[in-house]
Amino acid sequence: MVSAGETRLLVVANRLPVTARAHKDGVRLAMSSGGLATGLRNWQERAGAIWIGWPGDVSRFSPAQLADLDRQLDRSGVVPVHLTADEIATYYEGFANQVLWPLCHYLVDRVPVDATGWRTYCDVNARFADAVCQAWRPGDLVWVHDYQLMLVPSLIRERLPEARIGYFHHIPFPSSEVLRILPWRQEVLRGLLGADVIGFHTFAYRRHFLTSLLDTEGLEAEVDTLEVGGRTVHTGVFPMGIDAAHFEALAREPETQAVVARLREEAAGRHIVLGVDRLDYTKGIPRRLLAFERLLERRPDLRDRVRYVQVAVPSREGVDAYRSFRRQVDELVGRVNGRFTTLGAVPVHYLHRSVTQRELVGLFGAADVMLVTPLRDGMNLVAKEFVAARPDGDGVLVLSEFAGAAAELGDALIVNPYDVDALSDCIERALTMPDTERRLRMANLRARVRRHDVHAWASGYLGALTQATAVATDAGDRPVDGEAALLAAVTVAEPQRWCLLLDYDGTLTPIVERPELATPNDDLLDLLRELAGAAEVDVHLVSGRPRDTLERWLGSLPVDLWAEHGFWHRPARQSRWESATAVPEDWWVKVLPILESFAATTPGTRVEQKSAALAWHYRGADPAFGERQAHELRLVLGDALSNQPLEVVEGKKVVEIRLRGVSKAAAARHVRRRHGPTRQVIAVGDDRTDEDLFQALPDGITVKVGPGATAARYRLDDVPAVHRVLRSLLTTWARAVP
Ligand code: UDP
Repeated sequence: MVSAGETRLLVVANRLPVTARAHKDGVRLAMSSGGLATGLRNWQERAGAIWIGWPGDVSRFSPAQLADLDRQLDRSGVVPVHLTADEIATYYEGFANQVLWPLCHYLVDRVPVDATGWRTYCDVNARFADAVCQAWRPGDLVWVHDYQLMLVPSLIRERLPEARIGYFHHIPFPSSEVLRILPWRQEVLRGLLGADVIGFHTFAYRRHFLTSLLDTEGLEAEVDTLEVGGRTVHTGVFPMGIDAAHFEALAREPETQAVVARLREEAAGRHIVLGVDRLDYTKGIPRRLLAFERLLERRPDLRDRVRYVQVAVPSREGVDAYRSFRRQVDELVGRVNGRFTTLGAVPVHYLHRSVTQRELVGLFGAADVMLVTPLRDGMNLVAKEFVAARPDGDGVLVLSEFAGAAAELGDALIVNPYDVDALSDCIERALTMPDTERRLRMANLRARVRRHDVHAWASGYLGALTQATAVATDAGDRPVDGEAALLAAVTVAEPQRWCLLLDYDGTLTPIVERPELATPNDDLLDLLRELAGAAEVDVHLVSGRPRDTLERWLGSLPVDLWAEHGFWHRPARQSRWESATAVPEDWWVKVLPILESFAATTPGTRVEQKSAALAWHYRGADPAFGERQAHELRLVLGDALSNQPLEVVEGKKVVEIRLRGVSKAAAARHVRRRHGPTRQVIAVGDDRTDEDLFQALPDGITVKVGPGATAARYRLDDVPAVHRVLRSLLTTWARAVP
């Protein structure tokens, strides 16, 4: 049931978290609790979530059973998208798993030479989009998941332009050089751009996505957002977590402790090395076996003292590549065991089956060393589950640098899984690691896994989606385009007193390559002088620029000047600047060297120092490199600025660090305080810093210049349109004066 006032969530995923089993004339439905379902539990309880997806193979169900299934799904808030066996073979196993999967994991050779399935992939994506459009109601959040459904966001957007759509990519997003191999690269990229927020596990994946857009579509991001067809598309990094509390609790249960004790007893004092993976060629199992073999070669003393348990969960057995891969692993296990089995011990215990969760957590608890060494992995949850399942604070995690989890779990032993010798050394190091180091590393890993669990992940993502789509929703109607509507609004207003709050760059003058050349021309100076001279009109110029520039360029005009995004104010016809707040001494000491090092290593960029802000401008840099450096800079600043009274603000081709709480809203507050409702306010601006101004003026006439989501009520196309409107206003106001 959806409670009033809460936002409904439509979750769209290839596979539903349900298993349906036929019995007699009916069906038994079991809801499974995968990571995603667990992460959404709170939302589900509060506001309701509707799942849209494939309920599994029901081809053997009778018509009566099918009807029963649909009834039960409906009751559980689930919308099934039924797929035929042929569709599953072509769209899911064919295109998604044989083309997109290896490509995203950098295993280009695994892509079949006669890659097929694209048409069915399009058709099935369209069916999912249909199901969403039918279930959708205004205000819903739609969250599409993963590589099987990359076209769905745009397919929904075409039919429901105002929908709030998110997409999360659960697997790696490959380098643009790899993605460009895909003949349908443009279609999948455009498919994703229908979303409002596109989420990835790591910064690297997001960077690859943005570079692909730049290379393939010529679309340039502003740090992490893109302007696409008049909409703003946000990208974000949300590393998925696990239900850490659940794994921890399970590990503490006596039944699980009994499994641990049994496994240890069976190992009879031998070290236990563990691997748990789907049997997938991305998981690095063959090289892991080779590394183990090499260790036993090098260290004969370990041959009877280590047991390697490898759980290989059967997976995608309908796909040829997986069948032949299984044979390869079988052979390797046979070879290692053939070489090193003694009368007393078998070195590799190979289980080609799934295990229950209790067995799994028991295995985690018994392991001395956990090997997670995929060649590529979007995140790898097993690594995090192992950590959560060790409330004893012991155990060593060996982790591939190519797993998304490595970006977070720096206290694991990080290894290149392609380097068999290094991997072998790493297993040895893990087996011989001193107790204090083991415990220290595990304590750090556990703190991370607990804090960033699956609940934090889901609420982090949905928070970003809610926020990114809130502007348009809060503003009610989308901003009214066009000069005519704006002029009409001003003209119908009672003749009264006006305040004009005008941004400078991008509003009164076009954005230029070198900001110092954006000097006002005579036309603009005349226009501003005439406006300020009109009876009953106050003009405020509200800019991010420093005081001295504004003073030099505009200081002779009878207007209020606001510098550094509202930090400094110079009232009209006065010469003294007033600051909004006191500036702590030395606030910039930590930040300036960071910005300078980025300026030094990124040609075409420079640092600007202001009294309450520092800015790194990268308009002059190579576009792709500049964007990449901007990502890196934000990362570095994120670390350096925690606990500082500073915030990072993104503008057009600039990353700015300023004192928290300083914003252009200061100008709006000043005007309101000074004049109350006696003055009607018109605020015009073009970039994100102007949104602060718009939001502070809910009853003002707020005007966004150029495309992009905004809280403003009106929109003008460009700088010439702003000039035209201001000229018309002059005429209107001149007529109104008796
Ligand atoms: N798992 C499972 N059955 C098993 C062993 C493991 O369902 O017999 C689970 C494991 O707990 C983990 C998931 O499978 O949650 C594997 O997720 P991971 O991100 O490690 O890899 P993926 O299979 O998604 O590539």
